[in-house]
Amino acid sequence: MSFTYEALPMRVVFGAGSLAQVPQEAERLGLRRLLVLSTPTRRGLAERIAALLGDACVGRFTDARMHVPADIAAAAVKTARETRADGCLAVGGGSTIGLGKAIALETGLPVISVPTTYAGSEMTPVWGLTENGRKRTGRDRAVLPRSVVYDPELTLRLPVGASVTSGFNAIAHAVEALYAPDISPIVSLMAEEGVRSLAAALPAVVKDPHDLPARTEALRGAWLCGACLGATTMSLHHKLCHILGGTFDLPHAETHTVLLPYVAAFNLPAAPEADQALRRALATTDVSLHLARTSVGLGAPRSLAEIGLAEEHVDEIVGQAVGQPYANPRPVTAEAVRSLLTDALHGTLAPGS
Ligand code: NAD
Repeated sequence: MSFTYEALPMRVVFGAGSLAQVPQEAERLGLRRLLVLSTPTRRGLAERIAALLGDACVGRFTDARMHVPADIAAAAVKTARETRADGCLAVGGGSTIGLGKAIALETGLPVISVPTTYAGSEMTPVWGLTENGRKRTGRDRAVLPRSVVYDPELTLRLPVGASVTSGFNAIAHAVEALYAPDISPIVSLMAEEGVRSLAAALPAVVKDPHDLPARTEALRGAWLCGACLGATTMSLHHKLCHILGGTFDLPHAETHTVLLPYVAAFNLPAAPEADQALRRALATTDVSLHLARTSVGLGAPRSLAEIGLAEEHVDEIVGQAVGQPYANPRPVTAEAVRSLLTDALHGTLAPGS
């Protein structure tokens, strides 16, 4: 065995009610002038955090949007400069945390993040910015949040549909980490346990979205899966989701959820250890079928067609997907990607097909 593992400098505070610890986290980092970030719909929560911070909050920017449009990032940087902020506090999902990262990239300001979905961006040094319909991404240690406060109580009102698809978005990070070229023993453990947690918690969340123990288990799984994303190189699945979101504007978490079983069906036969780990975590002998049936059973969309992809787009995606070489357990040929996408377009693995 040989591997390389680099731990990311990251402090995590986890537990129901831990939102109350945000002021201490700011103090630990020596931050006294925080700009609080949120999406428009989460303005109320931003206000709550601003009140908690008191004098340590110098402003709010509540216009975060999906995929971090460059003009929104520029406006947020302007607000950070005008308010002489010494850090940002991003409360919300990947869109808000992404905005915090964009500010950090431009200004070097540290970010505290309070995640309220299962997307996992808070655990990664990956940033994204969208301009003229193209999303650029990169890795930079400067954008990695310095402190992450996970409070499951903040996820109680995440709608059931979004909870399921966001949960499968997290599972996708773990699946690709398990066959990543830079997998290491610690990541294997986190990935298997993250999938196990989410697979156990999501049905309970669907049954009762206010089930705090289930929400806690789901968020714990999301943390582990996010840490896998931050520690490894993603492959075909994330590449395809990036194209589907960036070029065809398909919704992020839903796209991950629908596509994952098809990429798993393609890749896992060439990644036996990943397959074994996922079989254990999901208690199944057929990982891809299990992923498809479970997600659809929990109310997720079953096909890419259902979330807006048209058959005539397939060639363009195939072209982009095979255009640049990247790590993947199986060779990414045009025929393979076309076949996989066509299956996902029609939802062939899901019940009712
Ligand atoms: P999101 O942040 O866009 O949130 C979706 C919607 O749900 C928003 O309107 C938000 O206000 C609302 N919401 C969030 N939490 C809620 C809660 N607890 N209760 C009620 N409503 C809530 O969605 P997302 O899936 O978390 O993030 C997707 C974005 O994150 C994409 O742009 C994706 O590319 C990015 N992302 C980046 C990374 C990375 O490492 N850089 C990782 C994962 C995702």
